[in-house]
Amino acid sequence: MTGLLECVERYGPESLAEEARVVLAAEPTVVALELIEYWHNPSDMQFFPKAVLQPYALWLAESRTTPARRELAGGERTCPFCGGKPQVSFLQSKESGAESGNRDLVCATCLCSWEFRRVVCANCGEERPAKLGYFHSPEFAYVRIEACDTCKHYIKGIDLTRLGHAVPLVDEIYAAPLDLWAREHGYTKIELNLVGL
Ligand SMILES: [Zn+2]
Ligand SMILES: [Zn+2]
Repeated sequence: MTGLLECVERYGPESLAEEARVVLAAEPTVVALELIEYWHNPSDMQFFPKAVLQPYALWLAESRTTPARRELAGGERTCPFCGGKPQVSFLQSKESGAESGNRDLVCATCLCSWEFRRVVCANCGEERPAKLGYFHSPEFAYVRIEACDTCKHYIKGIDLTRLGHAVPLVDEIYAAPLDLWAREHGYTKIELNLVGL
């Protein structure tokens, strides 16, 4: 954590560098309490707790250590392992020769993915196709906005059947102009990414 803070303090944008300075100067017990608070009440507006806890939660998942005291919403629209919200969705063909591909969601907290139905809002569970919109831009042919007109939320989807070597978490950030488009059209993202978009 100190390495990340020092790096951001030195090279990050001024507002984030200032935040890093404050955390570096704080008592370790205070920082620990803040991380525990975030663990129970996550927010996509807090860069450092999210950035610090992602590798921790990933390590929990990889070592199959069930996270303690993290009873979040539950249900198919949150991560079955840690209860986190979805950061991005992706489509991939699990069976060779399949035309359309399966849909998975990637957890914003532990970065694991779980299988999810294709035509369902990842935020509210809306299933009526007329309420669900998919928007592309020629610039990012393999990325789409998956929007819901019932809850007015969206998530980005990376189509690995179109670009097999895309990395959902990275390409999701790369396609930031689509977030601006979605916001201008009145949609709120289910979970902002680390860049804050
Ligand atoms: Zn998770
Ligand atoms: Zn919805």
